[in-house]
Amino acid sequence: MSNNYTRHVLASKKEQLTADYKTRNPNYKTHKGMDFIDDAGKCIIVAVADGTVESCRNDVIGVDHTYNTAGNYVRIKHPNGTYTRYLHLKTGSVCVKAGQTVKAGDKLGIMGETGDSYGVHLHFDVCVNGEYVDPLPYLTGAKGFGTSDHAPTPSAPADPADLRKGDKVALSKAPLYAASTSSKKANTVTGTYYIHSDGIINGRIRITTPKGCADCTGWVNAADCKVDKPSNPAPTQTAALKVGDKVRVRNGALTYSGTRLASWVYDAVFDVQQVGTSADKDYIVIGLNGQVTAGMRAADLSKV
Ligand SMILES: [Zn+2]
Repeated sequence: MSNNYTRHVLASKKEQLTADYKTRNPNYKTHKGMDFIDDAGKCIIVAVADGTVESCRNDVIGVDHTYNTAGNYVRIKHPNGTYTRYLHLKTGSVCVKAGQTVKAGDKLGIMGETGDSYGVHLHFDVCVNGEYVDPLPYLTGAKGFGTSDHAPTPSAPADPADLRKGDKVALSKAPLYAASTSSKKANTVTGTYYIHSDGIINGRIRITTPKGCADCTGWVNAADCKVDKPSNPAPTQTAALKVGDKVRVRNGALTYSGTRLASWVYDAVFDVQQVGTSADKDYIVIGLNGQVTAGMRAADLSKV
């Protein structure tokens, strides 16, 4: 089962709701968040948006309905002052520290059942000015966290393979989501720009002027970009990888779906767990110790 979220709290993006926020279900009148299990069975919890880890806990063992009700958790402060929490994480799985900055999609830990929990699940909540508000609009993209990913309704993304870092793109009246450092005030950009980072993040790409990073222009819908001149060929070669091969991730590479990866990923050696799907031969699943880490493109992996 799929959901219509544009932001995610699970690496698999297959959040399956098990208990809703209080206003939507009379059975959960006191429930201040949304509970999820992972429809893909991977159970890797990720940051919903960019922010800073405000606090976390990693040493609660087992179920505790009275004292440590949150269990092991991560609390993140986002740029607009909104907080998100991820509760009941597996003991010892929390892989971030207080004060650490995180990006949307960075791994926080593994789903568990510590604290006031009945069965393995993630409790996710959103706090604004001391009130636990409905998390749903934040997951669908209707509300934001003060990060550049705030977009009301991303349109259908173009094929990610068509857009690579350095590609020259022509834009005709593309609406601008967030002008970062540019003095440009217009809501619409036209002309020729370059793609700033590989892949598509929630249906959008970051564009820049020819001067590059220091003069970033902003984010536009991938669907509004027409590739004018590709800088590097799209990764179409058939994967020469087999299940069980050891690989490293190319520096700066994003996941298959365009999500940023945590920095440690670029130092680690992974096992290839799956090669290709019926739709794409270059789709490669990598992981560690039998756990899935990410779906990647073959071109972003080098054999060790
Ligand atoms: Zn809950």
